[in-house]
Amino acid sequence: MSANPKPRQFASDNYAGFAPEAWAAMAQANAGHCVAYGDDRWTAEASDLIREVFETDCEVFFVFNGTAANSLSLAHLCDSYHSILCHETAHVETDECGAPEFFSNGTKILLLPGGNGKIDPASIKATVQKRTDIHYPKPRVLTLTNATELGTVYTPAEVAAIAGEAKRLGLRVHMDGARFANAAATLGVPPKQITWEAGVDVLSFGGTKNGTGVGEAVVFFNKDLAEEFDYRCKQAGHLASKMRFLSAPWVGMLRGGADAPWLRHARHANNMAERLLSLVQKLPGAQILFPRQANSVFVQLNPKAIAELHARGWKFYTFIGQGGCRFMCSWDTTEEDIHALAADIGEVMGTPSLSSAL
Ligand SMILES: *Cc1c(COP(=O)(O)O)cnc(C)c1O
Repeated sequence: MSANPKPRQFASDNYAGFAPEAWAAMAQANAGHCVAYGDDRWTAEASDLIREVFETDCEVFFVFNGTAANSLSLAHLCDSYHSILCHETAHVETDECGAPEFFSNGTKILLLPGGNGKIDPASIKATVQKRTDIHYPKPRVLTLTNATELGTVYTPAEVAAIAGEAKRLGLRVHMDGARFANAAATLGVPPKQITWEAGVDVLSFGGTKNGTGVGEAVVFFNKDLAEEFDYRCKQAGHLASKMRFLSAPWVGMLRGGADAPWLRHARHANNMAERLLSLVQKLPGAQILFPRQANSVFVQLNPKAIAELHARGWKFYTFIGQGGCRFMCSWDTTEEDIHALAADIGEVMGTPSLSSAL
């Protein structure tokens, strides 16, 4: 079968474009001149909206991407002789090309185990206390990802257990929230319950995968830790001169309270993943790898099926976590996209009945 072009893909939620609300705010911000380097009304409003979302007075900075948000905030939380604890499948370990170590001038990342992409709380103490002599880098920060790299979601109690244990052991706590919106939409709890109330000091708050075009927010709930972070961003090349084009899309996404676009779009992406799961889990031979709790479905398919799906023009990753196929839904994924993909998965797995059942 020949590959016909797909209107939308499942490789990543950053294949999608701007959500309409983010794009409209971008257009408004483009009307005329505006103060540069972040002293503009869009950046002020986006920061205020983030303070509203988290119901607290926090410090907010915008940088170009998630790798920078993670690396610069982690670097700010420790010195070069410290170490940073994270899950063994964490983006900071597997997908940032050593940027956290680079920006912090040589910290060591220490890996924690745990099922379904979540840190095992018992492993924190074991790792911190494994070595306490001067010859080993001193543990100073723990970072956890919500939603995780494997599409699972930490509950408020789980975040509190991990952050609480980290705090007792003298660590600062960072959260990688590249898909924070999806986690918040799944849990339906006030965002403060999975951040500062649970012990998170700093959050990398992702906008891009949620429906902006560029720019992630670094949110310091512990304001003392934010001192001079603006200088760190500038030195690293992450102070945007036309900052309004990073911040205005956030205004479009965050305005509107409980039904604001950021939550509505995340809920939609999560629901589309649930639809895909419900179809694919019926297929004999398609093994679902992790609980579906955010906007992705991980499934083990045989190599021939994977090659045939690629030949049919579908794009999806097979290298995240422990392998398997990752199908990621976006704010603009449609029911038709889900049906088309599920039907093709059924056919390449030799279960064409699925397509007729759709
Ligand atoms: C996408 C992603 C990031 C950010 O990646 P960039 O490509 O640098 O924007 C960070 N953490 C996680 C878990 C991600 O999925």
